[in-house]
Amino acid sequence: MKTSSFASSVKLQTKHLESSWVDLHMHSTYSDGEHSVEELLAMGQKKGLRAMSITDHDTLDGYLEAKDLADKYSIELVSGVEISVFIEDSELHILGYLFDARNLNLNLKLSELQEKRKIRAQNIVNKLAQKGAPISLDRVFEKARGSSIGRPHIAEVLVEEEYVANFAEAFDKYIHADFVKEFDVYKPTPAEAIRLLTEAGGVAVLAHPAKYNRDDLIPKLVEWGLHGIEVYTPGTDRKQSNHYKKLAKSYNLICSGGSDFHSKSGGNKNGVGSVKVPQESLDQLKEASLKICT
Ligand code: AMP
Ligand code: FE
Ligand code: FE
Ligand code: ZN
Repeated sequence: MKTSSFASSVKLQTKHLESSWVDLHMHSTYSDGEHSVEELLAMGQKKGLRAMSITDHDTLDGYLEAKDLADKYSIELVSGVEISVFIEDSELHILGYLFDARNLNLNLKLSELQEKRKIRAQNIVNKLAQKGAPISLDRVFEKARGSSIGRPHIAEVLVEEEYVANFAEAFDKYIHADFVKEFDVYKPTPAEAIRLLTEAGGVAVLAHPAKYNRDDLIPKLVEWGLHGIEVYTPGTDRKQSNHYKKLAKSYNLICSGGSDFHSKSGGNKNGVGSVKVPQESLDQLKEASLKICT
């Protein structure tokens, strides 16, 4: 009995060595994810992932907690963050990897963004009251539990207060991009985010490009130093994925991706490792990061 449980534990511990899959996009309770960092690592181990990155919105807290735990789960943990940026009336997400998490300017900017997210949440709650859906700001802060506060926490309260039946309806009916746009102008530009990440020794990747309908911005992002683009993303069909692979090739961008897992009940429900990302993506990101002088 003892031997077999030892054997299965060894098998679990070494499973990642046979795997060549990674997951470079997911969220923990430090932003709008449902699962703790440790739960995410355990899911990654169970899937036999070789490496993963916890990419919380505008905060390194998820990564910082995970880095001390990754060894226990025999997973290579890559520093990661997902920065919301604003350009020409559109919000995009820029993923950063392989940066020095002690970099001062990056940390100062992310702290500033955390404060601005709180003010934005307050503004959104005020606007909701004007639109006939008053909710408690304190309740929204409770939902965020001190983490990077965002629209999902507001959506939870809108559901709780029965203004809407579910999360999707909260976004469709109330807190869609147009509703919050006027409060999003504080966000950094893509050029600023790419510069911050690069100056911290990291690389920048455009998250889920199919979500924006702004392929026209890709040449500019490349000019500003973008290293890669997500092509392995949940909900992307083969046609879209091939489209972005082609774009990546023509702009010499690295093909990256991940599950963008938030919770079992929303977004990609299928968990860590549910989108297959080849290890080659991470190898190429590492190669690009080595070329950066800090
Ligand atoms: P924020 O950073 O406050 O703008 O919130 C953005 C987050 O809200 C995204 O990262 C998603 O997790 C979530 N989200 C955005 N749009 C939707 C939607 N239509 N349905 C459910 N969740 C969404
Ligand atoms: Fe999110
Ligand atoms: Fe995103
Ligand atoms: Zn994400």
